[in-house]
Formats: sequence, C-alpha cells, structure tokens
Amino acid sequence: MTLTIRHETILTPYRDPFRIARSHGSGAGATSVLVELRDTADGPDGHVGLGEGYPDAYYGETPATIGVVLPLLVAAAEPFGEGLRGALVEARAALVGASHAIEEAIRHHGAAKCALDTALHDLVGKRLGLPVHRLLELSPVIPPTDFTLGIDEPEIVAARAARAARFPALKVKVGGPSDLATLEAVRAVYAGPIRIDANTAWQPDDGARLIPELERLGVELIEQPFKAHRLDQTRWLQQRSPLPIVVDESSVTIDDLDGLVGVCEGVNVKLAKCGGIGPARRMLERARELGFRRFLGCMEETSVGIAASAAVASLADWIDLDGCLLLASDPFEGLELGTDCRWILSSRAGLGVARRAG
Ligand SMILES: [Mg+2]
Repeated sequence: MTLTIRHETILTPYRDPFRIARSHGSGAGATSVLVELRDTADGPDGHVGLGEGYPDAYYGETPATIGVVLPLLVAAAEPFGEGLRGALVEARAALVGASHAIEEAIRHHGAAKCALDTALHDLVGKRLGLPVHRLLELSPVIPPTDFTLGIDEPEIVAARAARAARFPALKVKVGGPSDLATLEAVRAVYAGPIRIDANTAWQPDDGARLIPELERLGVELIEQPFKAHRLDQTRWLQQRSPLPIVVDESSVTIDDLDGLVGVCEGVNVKLAKCGGIGPARRMLERARELGFRRFLGCMEETSVGIAASAAVASLADWIDLDGCLLLASDPFEGLELGTDCRWILSSRAGLGVARRAG
C-alpha cells in the first residue's frame, strides 16, 4: 500500500442558526470530516491531497461511518496508484478508474467516497501543477451562487435576507406552517429570484395550495417538496406546477436519474451524496443528456468541499455553493467569491485551498 489517509472530524459553528425541515440538532454548527491523503512513493515531502466528506445522518453517514469505510475505499483506489503518478493523460484515466473502483467497493457512503475522491483530485492536480477544473478540461466560467436562509421566524428570515441582498438569488428553507408568511416577508426586502426547499416536509395539499402564491411571489423553483420515495406525488405536482420542481433527496446518485424522467424538471447534484468530483461530473453530464435542468448544491462544507464542487460547476444551470459562507469561520483559505457572487476558480494547483495558519 502506498496511499495513506488521515481523517479528522471538525465542528464549526454557523454564522446564524441554520435549520431545515428535517433537522434534528440545534442548528448551531456543522460537523464535517476532513482528510489528508499522502502517497508514500512521493517521499516524506510529497504533496498532500485535501478532501472533505460531509456526513448527513439522513443518508446513513456519521463521522464514525466515514472513519470505518475510508480504509476500504483507499484499498480500492490503491491499484491505480501508479497511474495517478503518471503524466496528464494517464493520471486522468487513473482518476476515472479509481473513482469507479471506489464506487464499486461498497454501496452508499457518498460522503466517505467524496472525501477520498476529492483528495485524489487535489493530489494529482498538485503533482501536475494544474487546478482541478483544468485537470478535468472543464470551463472556469460558472454561474453565481445563491445564498441559503434556514427556517426561523419570518421576521428573522427577512432580516437575514436583507443582509444577503448582494446575492443574485436566495434559497429559502420551508416546510412548516409559516412558509407563506416567511416568503412574503423575504419578498418585502429582496427583489431577486427566490428558490425554496421543503426538504421532504410538504404534503400534496400544501403544494397545490401554495403554487399560485409562489408564482405571485416570484419563486423560481421548488426543491424536494415530498418524501424522497414519493415520486408519484412529485410527478403529480410537477404536472400542475408552472414552476420547475427540482429533486434533491430523490436524486442521490447517477443511478437515480433514469427513474426521474417525467417526474420533475430538475435535479440537485451534490458531491457529498454522489461520491465526489468524478461521480458529480458524470451525474451532471448524464442529467444533461436526459434533459434535466441541473442544480449543483452542497452541504455545510468548508471551502475544501466548496472548491471541489466549484471545479465542476460549469456543468450546472443553477448553483447553491454557499456551505462555507454559512460557517462562522472557515479553517481553510484560498477560495475567493467574486463581487458578482461567482466563485473564482484559481490558477493554483489542485483545489487551490490550504489550511489557515494559526
Ligand atoms: Mg435540498
């Protein structure tokens, strides 16, 4: 074995309390797992690949499951070690091969896979002196990110919306009795598009009743109104809704896409669900082939996870990559948000982020 991985669980407080319809915790902070990948063949001063996997209990992951699964995934990637040390074309092929081997090593565990896949891309990018998006031959031109507001009292959400006025779109978490009051309050202080996300909490009656109001309020899209497996309800609402419905909890990996044709107009792809940079690229490309509108989302990752997502963001129509902006502090630096709210894909090698000193 030449690949070695070290992982660390970090808890970072949120800037503002952050709750969604299916939250269990206090909404006080984000727990994420950071990894450092080394290749002993590079010697003691070799590059370190950074990765992040955000464990979401809804998808069956915790920091402990990530810790248990990582060695199995590293063993699956190990046969590609020599290819990963090769020149560009060979290394690119090895990244794809390793990503398939990681996928086939165990079902589910998207965040654990994401942590390793991201670290492999960062390591190869650093070795070759290429930023990840160039390693993948992807465009650095990406859509601007929206900014997400968690569930709270309508006037509190509106105050946060006013503070976020520079963002070209807001994503408002809904899924409770105050949904309409919240959206009215946000609309009173914010003129741009509003995207809403019910995180599975609505019943079909809620959707049918709210749609005319959502249209009036300038809502741009409705994300995951119903339970993940209730594609029948989602299809029913999409047939009655002039607004696009985007699924998130129903679109975990590329394998979910074919079954969503005719159900909804859009899918939300996240690295932490599907397994990292390589799988997200394939899922976004397949979603485009199937005619879906593509939303690239995130969990509440640090800028390691957000930089990894930004590398494939040119393949999406809408971007919700604000995880690290929701945190009170980010342990990493190097990822900059432009004045137009587009992440700037740097020319630095790999992900272009490094641990903050001190
Ligand atoms: Mg969502």
